[in-house]
Amino acid sequence: RAKDAGRNTFRFFDPSMNESVVEQLHLAAGLRSALGSEQLMLHYQPQLELASGRIVGAEALLRWRHPELGWISPARFIPVAERSGLIHELGAWVLRQACMDAQSWRELGLGELGVAVNVSAVQFRRDGLERHVARALASSGLPAQALELELTESLLMADASHLGNVLQRLSTSGVQIAIDDFGTGYSNLGYLRNFAVDRLKVDQSFVRRMTSNPHDEGLVRAIIEMGHCLGLQVVAEGVEDAQTLARLADFGCERGQGFHWSPALPPQDFIAFVQAHQARA
Ligand code: C2E
Ligand code: MG
Ligand code: MG
Ligand code: MG
Repeated sequence: RAKDAGRNTFRFFDPSMNESVVEQLHLAAGLRSALGSEQLMLHYQPQLELASGRIVGAEALLRWRHPELGWISPARFIPVAERSGLIHELGAWVLRQACMDAQSWRELGLGELGVAVNVSAVQFRRDGLERHVARALASSGLPAQALELELTESLLMADASHLGNVLQRLSTSGVQIAIDDFGTGYSNLGYLRNFAVDRLKVDQSFVRRMTSNPHDEGLVRAIIEMGHCLGLQVVAEGVEDAQTLARLADFGCERGQGFHWSPALPPQDFIAFVQAHQARA
């Protein structure tokens, strides 16, 4: 069955190819009409400073509630948005909404919290990202220092000169740059000294296994030390228990996020979570 084999090959190389073309078109059409509606929203996962236990900000994570299919994971619909070109409009909305929400946290007196926004490679390759960032900051009033963009390693390997310039300009404006899912990408680390990066986010697959697998613990520790040698801060994602947290703190990891504290929460629940956390402290 050549056809079946072909499908399986696709499945192996790109999990998003699990969807048939028809399914993808259906999702893309749904996404287009979801834009600007209540179906799409941002949830916020608290990020903590490990040394103090303070909440220092949140990662914005997209949520889509499809009228017929229910909740759809961003891991499924972001690739569809990238392939259909919708990611530009979607990404601009995410930036605007995240900056507005983060500014509202300040106005509510929650402190100088930051917000981290995921930016996909496709968004970076087209001119306009810098303009979208500038507009989101200007219209919300959020200081640039409070916005962090999360990029993936694979993005930094492609089109290095254009990207280096964009990152340099963003960085000069005060925007923070983090490398997401660090450790899962390429082994060439040279880009770390060539680009204006502020933080590494250790991939959750290592963090979640670190208390049961010494190799994963070793990797996490090595990434933290390497980050520090390069003058970068390190964020651990996927912190699910107190034992993992204790090890990360021992290793000098600056920040963490994960189910140990909270999953990503709807905006109102995030605010309540921060208020309850601050009341306890
Ligand atoms: P990511 O940026 O690496 O986000 C972390 C993912 O890990 C999130 O899944 C989060 O809910 C999950 N997570 C957080 N803490 C834990 C934990 O302790 N244990 C476990 N098992 N999981 C945890 P989510 O929300 O499904 O997002 C998946 C991916 O979708 C994100 O990975 C990101 O690459 C992408 N994504 C989400 N929102 C956006 C967006 O606005 N724009 C773009 N371009 N991509 C987005
Ligand atoms: Mg992320
Ligand atoms: Mg990640
Ligand atoms: Mg990811």
